Amino acid sequence: MVEKREFLYEGKAKRVYRTENPDLYLVEFKDDATAFDGLKRGTIAGKGEVNARVSAILFRILEREGIPTHFVELRSPREMLVKALKIFPVEVVVRNVAAGSLAQRLGLKEGTVLKNPVLEFYYKSDELHDPMINEYHVAALELATPDQVELMKNYALQVNEILARVLEPADLILIDFKLEFGLHHGEMLLGDEISPDTCRFWDRHTKEKLDKDRFRRDLGKVEEAYQEVFRRINEAVGEM
Ligand code: UDP
Repeated sequence: MVEKREFLYEGKAKRVYRTENPDLYLVEFKDDATAFDGLKRGTIAGKGEVNARVSAILFRILEREGIPTHFVELRSPREMLVKALKIFPVEVVVRNVAAGSLAQRLGLKEGTVLKNPVLEFYYKSDELHDPMINEYHVAALELATPDQVELMKNYALQVNEILARVLEPADLILIDFKLEFGLHHGEMLLGDEISPDTCRFWDRHTKEKLDKDRFRRDLGKVEEAYQEVFRRINEAVGEM
């Protein structure tokens, strides 16, 4: 078993540790939740485990479909062994249905189906509150090369198609999601997590929100929604 070594850093929802293998990190998923740029804080019991397990299931499927990811294995229900990445300071968001900041910015009713998937970049900067940027900004600030941007876009749109397909038998609509990429020995890998913290999932029939918006907007039944997403995805892929 790979040993947990010194603590590297702590994010809002995860802690990262080195291991005895310099190529591998151990990520510990926490129950802590934040929203609105850290202004709202709380705990969602069981979230760390759900996010680790949902991410593990989805990373495995993506790997099988040809998307290289940092995922190695789950070491415990909330500890994930991953390939060490140098993360690009760019968040890639893909949207199928208007919600959240897009609905606000463009005056669209939440739930409006978009004619085509919309891909956006955000600059990861706490100081600047993660402003939206485009490919010209990415190039000008040298956040990634044009080839790397092209690869991130291709992977993100492929991830969208694969996830939408996987979530269908779980009766979940993939409204939108955020991805992060990084380099491991020069290879571009999908990193971070894919979970109800980083995706919006709505029930196909009732359109009930089953994601972090329940926490952000005080909708209640937050823990239940996270458990429900894990239960449905686990059941659906068990049959795949
Ligand atoms: N998202 C994320 N981390 C962020 C910002 C957004 O995981 O720092 C996810 C969010 O959960 C949603 C998608 O990216 O699935 C689009 O988020 P949006 O721009 O609507 O921002 P929000 O309304 O979450 O502030």
